[in-house]
Amino acid sequence: MRVARTAHIMVTEHRKGEMSTTQEHIPLLVLGPTAPPQRSERGTLCDGLPPAADPTLIDRVRAAKIALGDRVTILGHHYQKAEVIQFADERGDSYKLARYAAETGSPYVVFLGVHFMAESADILTSDAQQVILPDLAAGCSMADMADIAHVEECWSLLQDVAPGATTPITYMNSSADIKALTGREGGTICTSSNAAGALEWAFAQREKVLFLPDQHLGFNTAMNMGLSPEDCVIWNPHKDLGGLDEDAIRGAKIILWRGHCSVHQRFQPEHVHAVRERVPGVRVIVHPECRHDVVSLADEVGSTEKIIRAIEDSEPGSKWAIGTELNLVQRLADENPDKTVVFLDKTVCFCATMNRIDLPHLTWALENLLERRVVNRIEVDPDTAHWARLALQRMLEIN
Ligand code: SF4
Repeated sequence: MRVARTAHIMVTEHRKGEMSTTQEHIPLLVLGPTAPPQRSERGTLCDGLPPAADPTLIDRVRAAKIALGDRVTILGHHYQKAEVIQFADERGDSYKLARYAAETGSPYVVFLGVHFMAESADILTSDAQQVILPDLAAGCSMADMADIAHVEECWSLLQDVAPGATTPITYMNSSADIKALTGREGGTICTSSNAAGALEWAFAQREKVLFLPDQHLGFNTAMNMGLSPEDCVIWNPHKDLGGLDEDAIRGAKIILWRGHCSVHQRFQPEHVHAVRERVPGVRVIVHPECRHDVVSLADEVGSTEKIIRAIEDSEPGSKWAIGTELNLVQRLADENPDKTVVFLDKTVCFCATMNRIDLPHLTWALENLLERRVVNRIEVDPDTAHWARLALQRMLEIN
């Protein structure tokens, strides 16, 4: 059974020196064929959302940002579209932005990203700061592939089959409750740039790793470290014992959660062959969330930040085909006119949930702040935040 996670909608009003807060729990966007139609659109919760065709939206965001001054910090993930990222005080990947949110100390942090990123920002910011996600339907399909009920069941079964043998490693792209389980069970968080260090650390603690939730990042990292495919098994949360038998679990070094990024997994080996024919002399660079057969064919593999640096630092006239989210690739092409920058394959589309953050929702969130109303607050409960923070701190100590 699919378990829907919930978001806390906090509405805080400060009027005439008095503060009142109401809280509502709603299920996050349910994806897939079983999604009830009435829950597939969270925009209906945005009372007073301006229409997308309103030609004044850019001026309204600009005016609200100026009026709010340093009471608000706007953070923009690299995959956000141009119409909103132009207002970001800082751009980055999810971990960089969460740390930046804590460093600014702004009472309001508006996160142009997806739900798990806003949760990570809330975990790392102080109690005096409030994190806002302009559209609650901006989730992440990969993070949603590992819900806490399934992960707890997996962890318990692993303890039955191989007691005390496994360390959990969880990618940043996961919900706060999975990060908290990782912290409680002695594991660490990783990013796409430090996953190898996290695996090395984990193998020094115990003989096995449970890697969540991206099977491709886990497998690519394992292969880079010299492990073999036979060292890895995939845990399918929808099958008994993950679709494995006890001997397979006992014999595995890495148990990969069966999750993936719905954008990066779409790149295929044929796309690499085709772009090499189409653009002679091109260098192919892809994100490690891509399938291993795509990663194996690429010239370079790296995190979002590494991809950006590779393009910016390359010689004028160089040619690049990039396998990552389309908004970032378009921006890199625009910002590097002295180089040829193309998308690895034009049939792969934007991250649909990232794209839910748009000008109307940003306008709506900021103008509510001007009225001293906090809408779409993302708040992680203190116990979950404590354990998730511990797992994040372990990552910093390892790297
Ligand atoms: S690009 Fe992939 S990993 Fe990133 S938010 Fe979208 S679905 Fe999640």
